Amino acid sequence: MSLLRRAIVRCNARPWPQSHRAPVPLLSTHRHLSSGPVKIPPVDEVFAEAVPTTAVPAGLKPFGHDAVNTGAVKPGPAKPVSGTGAKDSDHHAVVSTFDLFSIGVGPSSSHTVGPMRAAKIFLEDLKSAGVLQRVRIMKVHLYGSLALTGEGHGTPNAILMGLEGEAPESVDAPSIPQRCRTIAETSSLNLAGTHAIDFHPSRDLIFHPDQSLPQHPNGMRFLAMDGSADLVACNEYFSIGGGFVVNEKTRVAHGENVYYMAYDTTEVGESRKSQDVAVTTAALPFRNGTQLLEVCKREDMSIAQVVWENERRWRSVADIRARTRAIWEVMDKSIENGCLGDDKTVLPGGLKVPRRAPGLYRKLQRGFYGGPRLVKTASSQESSPAPSPTPASASNVPVRQQRSMVPSQYQKDGVELLKKRRRKRMVSPALDFLSAYAIAVNEENAAGGRVVTAPTNGAAGVIPAVLKYYLEFFSDEAGLHHPGGQDYAAIESDVSEFLFTASAIGMLYKRGASISAAEMGCQGEVGVACSMAAGAFAAVMGGTIEQIENAAEIAMEHNLGLTCDPVGGLVQIPCIERNALGAVKAVTAAQLALNGDGRHHVSLDNVIETMRQTGHDMMSKYKETSQGGLAVNVPMC
Ligand code: SF4
Repeated sequence: MSLLRRAIVRCNARPWPQSHRAPVPLLSTHRHLSSGPVKIPPVDEVFAEAVPTTAVPAGLKPFGHDAVNTGAVKPGPAKPVSGTGAKDSDHHAVVSTFDLFSIGVGPSSSHTVGPMRAAKIFLEDLKSAGVLQRVRIMKVHLYGSLALTGEGHGTPNAILMGLEGEAPESVDAPSIPQRCRTIAETSSLNLAGTHAIDFHPSRDLIFHPDQSLPQHPNGMRFLAMDGSADLVACNEYFSIGGGFVVNEKTRVAHGENVYYMAYDTTEVGESRKSQDVAVTTAALPFRNGTQLLEVCKREDMSIAQVVWENERRWRSVADIRARTRAIWEVMDKSIENGCLGDDKTVLPGGLKVPRRAPGLYRKLQRGFYGGPRLVKTASSQESSPAPSPTPASASNVPVRQQRSMVPSQYQKDGVELLKKRRRKRMVSPALDFLSAYAIAVNEENAAGGRVVTAPTNGAAGVIPAVLKYYLEFFSDEAGLHHPGGQDYAAIESDVSEFLFTASAIGMLYKRGASISAAEMGCQGEVGVACSMAAGAFAAVMGGTIEQIENAAEIAMEHNLGLTCDPVGGLVQIPCIERNALGAVKAVTAAQLALNGDGRHHVSLDNVIETMRQTGHDMMSKYKETSQGGLAVNVPMC
């Protein structure tokens, strides 16, 4: 019995179907095997007939099992959630902050980071099964949203890099396009960095835009074959948003809530992997916003402290601090790279969207009160000296108004009050810096640069922008700059509180709904990032836990129903501007909450559940398929 057949039988307790015992005719997806009979049926028939589509045909050790606790941090006795009657079977929302915020490459967490990780995970499984060296042929099938928008979201390149053994957090991002061109030109791929195999991207990456796997809209099937085209192994993965990858084995009863990121599962402690046993997997478990506030009150802790305490179960203090710093440094660098980029370049993909962040940032650097250089004339959008105001005696209109008006030929019926207006100087730190920072990150993301998924790549600009804005304008350390940026030691407390608070809120969305645009639309990406940033901003501004919860709730309440309709399947329009708006909305939501006393009608739990229901009811054409909304109304130029 071949390994494939053994694997299928082992995983599904079903015999290999009789009809496939004999070689089947050559089919289009296997044209390259023309030298001999095809030994396997086409993958669709394999999985449609040999395996029910609701089961995962895992030909290998499934991702997510048999890991051991690394024991890096000795778990202490866990405290059950008060008043909930917590049982061993309870599912909680706690995941590691460093699984929620991960360093990756653009442009998409679900379509770039996830697929690259899935390919690498598959290879790691091949390695640990001792069959990697046998592999000479690879086929990767992409379904649903991955097939529909994968091209614009960088999925093919991501999978090629993953198959070469690269990881999103460490791949040299600028080299990706050239490496992928070389693979296409030479039809040769260096599998897991160990040996070259024949690989034609246009043939071996197979898109199924009209099919979706039943488990999740972002499905992938990997098939590895030997030189005789015998199937060595196969597996199926789902990129569920935020760079997280699961398969059937990692799903739990209440849905996709097993979230950890690792390639070698032995590196992941059982307590971090298992979401099922609340009382042993998290020091301070919580399932929803209400329980999170209960824990804070019971333990007399801030939200960030609760997250820290849970993190301590999995990592040493030094590790937590190092990882937090690494996250912030990548965020900060992505802002810097975006702001200091070349605004004469256009973003890749064919839409010819120019980079705007450098121009916005340059303008801001002239100063808030920039004097005459910031005043624009009607004929020029660039800075120029201010024109002399019309003498006050020339009109009855007050001097202040005269300065902002343009002489008009239209003089009928005494319409002086409605004269045309000059362009006014508008420098608003809140709007301009937030927007510039968010746009900077998302332009980097769109260009395939390095960003932090926060909690996704499409929404990667919101949280860094709001945190940077806080550090520069509100932190006690504001203004303490040195040439290389802010002194991290001085801002570590701010950064930690902000990111841990944001991650707690992100956990609630992962537990209660989803952060996948393919499931929730953009409310699950920019909406969630906005909510996380609002709560975190309220926290570092000294808000109470109720005000923090209120800020997070307000931010999502006004993102409900936000669709995902990227033009051309690219993470550019409306994504880049949407991050700027998300950042501004986050600060506004926090301001509203901080101006209240924390009491409000709609709870964060209410709004998360509403988002979940809205996402489920949303038509699929508005969920990262580019089949509706702006994607069909804005022409590709
Ligand atoms: S519209 Fe929103 S969810 Fe969709 S790709 Fe853009 S940022 Fe992501």
